[in-house]
Amino acid sequence: MLVLGIETTCDETAASVVSSERDGHGEILSNEILSQIADHAAYGGVVPEIAARAHVEVVDHLVERALAKAGVRLSDLDGVAAAAGPGLIGGVIVGLTTAKTLALVANKPLVAVNHLEGHALSPRLTDGVAFPYLLLLVSGGHTQLVAVKGVGDYVRLGGTVDDAIGEAFDKTAKMLGLPYPGGPQVEREAERGDPERFALPRPMLGRAAPDFSLSGLKTAVRVEAERIAPLTGKDVADLCASFQAAVVDVVVDRTRVALKLFRETAGHPSALVVAGGVAANATVRRALQRLAGETGLRLAVPPPALCTDNGAMIAWAGIERLRRGLVDDLSVAPRARWPLAPAPARA
Ligand code: ATP
Ligand code: FE
Ligand code: MG
Repeated sequence: MLVLGIETTCDETAASVVSSERDGHGEILSNEILSQIADHAAYGGVVPEIAARAHVEVVDHLVERALAKAGVRLSDLDGVAAAAGPGLIGGVIVGLTTAKTLALVANKPLVAVNHLEGHALSPRLTDGVAFPYLLLLVSGGHTQLVAVKGVGDYVRLGGTVDDAIGEAFDKTAKMLGLPYPGGPQVEREAERGDPERFALPRPMLGRAAPDFSLSGLKTAVRVEAERIAPLTGKDVADLCASFQAAVVDVVVDRTRVALKLFRETAGHPSALVVAGGVAANATVRRALQRLAGETGLRLAVPPPALCTDNGAMIAWAGIERLRRGLVDDLSVAPRARWPLAPAPARA
C-alpha cells in the first residue's frame, strides 16, 4: 500500500510517501519538510496568520517533491492522507484542501487523519510495535498518557491541566532569553548546568491520577531568575538543568502511575511509546529507558525527525486507516480542536 501524507497543522509544512509493503511496518520513500521556524522566530512563537500563508506558498511544491523523490506518480497511490486537525485552523485548511483536491483529481480515497493519531501510531511505522501500548505524547501543544488499544481505539489515562511540556520548555527558554523554539536550546544549556542548584517544584508528583501541571514550574523558574538577575551564562545553564530535572522527575512519576492504571484496566502493554517533539530530549529518553527497564517493558521512541511534526506519520496513519477501510468523504471538515480520546469519567 502506497500513501501520500500531508501535514500543515502547526509551523511545519510536510509531505511524505510511505509504503507498507515491507513486513508489517512501513518504509518511508520520501519525507519532505519545510520548517517555518525562521518566519516565526522574531515573534518568539508561532503566528497563525503567517503560518497559514507560508503553508499556501509551499505545499504544492512540497507534494511534488515528495512524489518525485519517492519515484511515484499520483496514479500509483492507494490513498491521500492529510492531518485534518487539531491545530491552527488556517494551516489545517491548506493541507486538507490540498489532499481533497489531489484525491478528487486522481480519484483516490481520502483519509482525514487526527494529527495526534499520527504521533500515536508512528512507533508502528518505525518499529512495528504491537497493540496495545502505553503512549506518552509530549509535544508543544499536547501532553497526554494514552492507552492505545488499536487503530481508532484510544483511552486517555491522563494529561496536562495547563501547559504542555514542550510549551513549558519554550516559555522557559523565552524567559531566559534563549531563541525559539526553546526545547533544544534548554537541553543544550542543561548539559553544562547544575541540575541541583535550584530546588524547583515537582507539580503533581505522587498523585493517584496520571495528570500533569506545568505552569507552576514555569513560574518557579521565573521567580528564581528574577531573584538572581542579572543572569550570567552559568545561571542560565543551571536554571535550564534544574528545570529539565524537575520535568524528568514528573514525567517518570506520571508515566509510572499510568502504567499501573494501564495494567489494571487495559491489560498488558507491549511497549512504552514516547512521541511528540519533547521525545527528542535525550535526558527525558534516558529516564524513560530506565523506567521501562525497571518495569520489564520495551521503550519505543521514533528517531528525532519523526518525533517532531512530519508527513510520514500522517501517511502511515493513512495506511493504518485505509487497511481497515476507514476512508473519509470529501466533505470532511477541518478541526481546530479534536481530542484523540475522550477522558474517562473519574470519581
Ligand atoms: P503538536 O503539539 O500539535 O504536535 P508541535 O508542533 O508543538 O505541535 P512537535 O513538533 O511534535 O509539536 O514538537 C515541538 C515541541 O517539542 C516544541 O515545544 C519544542 O520545544 C519541543 N522540543 C523539541 N526538541 C526538544 C528537546 N530536545 N527537548 C525538549 N523539548 C523539545
Ligand atoms: Fe505534533
Ligand atoms: Mg511543530
